[in-house]
Amino acid sequence: MSLPEDLSREELEAVQLERFTVLVQDVLSGNAFWKKRFEESGWGSAVDVTTRLDGLRLLSEFPVCSKQDFVADQDENPPYGTNLSEPLSGYTRLHQTSGTTGRPLRWLDTPAAWRNLLDAWSQMFRIAGVTAEDRFAFPFSFGPFIGFWAAFEGAVESGHLCLPGGGMSSGARLRLIEDNQATVLCCTPTYALRLAEVAREEAVDLASGSVRMLIVAGEPGGSVPGVREEIESAWGARVIDHWGMTELGPIAVECVEGPGGMHVLEGECVAEIVDPDTLEKVPPGEQGELLVTTLRRTGSPVLRYRTGDLVVADSEPCPCGRALLRLKGGILGRADDMLTVRGNNVFPSSIEAVIRRVSGVAEFRVVIGSESALDRFSVEIEPVAGAAVDEVLAGVEAGIRETFNFQAEVSAVGPGQLPRFELKGRRFVRK
Ligand SMILES: [Zn+2]
Repeated sequence: MSLPEDLSREELEAVQLERFTVLVQDVLSGNAFWKKRFEESGWGSAVDVTTRLDGLRLLSEFPVCSKQDFVADQDENPPYGTNLSEPLSGYTRLHQTSGTTGRPLRWLDTPAAWRNLLDAWSQMFRIAGVTAEDRFAFPFSFGPFIGFWAAFEGAVESGHLCLPGGGMSSGARLRLIEDNQATVLCCTPTYALRLAEVAREEAVDLASGSVRMLIVAGEPGGSVPGVREEIESAWGARVIDHWGMTELGPIAVECVEGPGGMHVLEGECVAEIVDPDTLEKVPPGEQGELLVTTLRRTGSPVLRYRTGDLVVADSEPCPCGRALLRLKGGILGRADDMLTVRGNNVFPSSIEAVIRRVSGVAEFRVVIGSESALDRFSVEIEPVAGAAVDEVLAGVEAGIRETFNFQAEVSAVGPGQLPRFELKGRRFVRK
């Protein structure tokens, strides 16, 4: 029997259908949120839904759902809403979204659903090329945010020594990594860069250190070429990009053989890529929004969840040979993050890619403001110590002009003037 990540297309689709049928008939029949939604959408009962879908062929005709639906449900039915397949006493895990875009959304898991998330991580570790000898460090403040909880426990289950790094300074984390000879680091791209900066200040040579791989998540940076190259060269290690969401769990990961893209774990979910306006399926090679139906997050499942993340399905087979859907270039941006600057639509991740390509940038912040009809687009750069400031500023200014065809006001700020981040960076400010 093949490993779940190595199934053929036909085998994967058979697994999806089997799991979806179990989900709808056995799990969702007791879930008030989905029962109501089936009835309101005119699809009838859970049994009717599986019949009407004709396998999974007609899943695309079922209504989509979004974060707002669950926020509204939790507002009406506090504190957890009604997307619960079991009585509350059956749940053992609470996580919540970071709340960057509104009130945090709470998400509960049963022990069975949580085990499935750990299993998803074991698949991802194999895809990423983690070996039995690897030791994991998690330079991460574990809190109610789901980030890396399941990765930590999944790595423990797979038999790896795992180092928790909560409540420590960046310097102490670097010593934890070095003293214990950690080989794999799990953190955000922003924090990988921050640790590299602290290492430079403390004259620690990361490139000759023990870390050989960084599994990064929480921001698009892992697949943004400029960011990725900077992390890889500072650490002398390979970046592996990963994507997941509180509402979905761990869903996608980069394989060793195919850098610059991520495979979706299609045994855990059904992924669709649709036009964000019409919700019609887009063909491989074209950009669309990722919709996810979770198959094994049974305590609080979602059907056709709008992630808001824009992706492109790779139309070429991956060199690793896996049949799993591959998102070319990773997560390309979020539909609601798109900036319009003087008529140009740009993603923050594309701007970051340009800025990171210029050497000598320690940190940056972009301030977007409207004055009369003209958008102001200013970039503050904190150069690394000893960098030729004028050259760095000119490089950033030219990069933005050449890539996006608009002029940015680029200025320098002093050392330590810009904020540093441990989780997701907040470098784009609207005024
Ligand atoms: Zn691959």
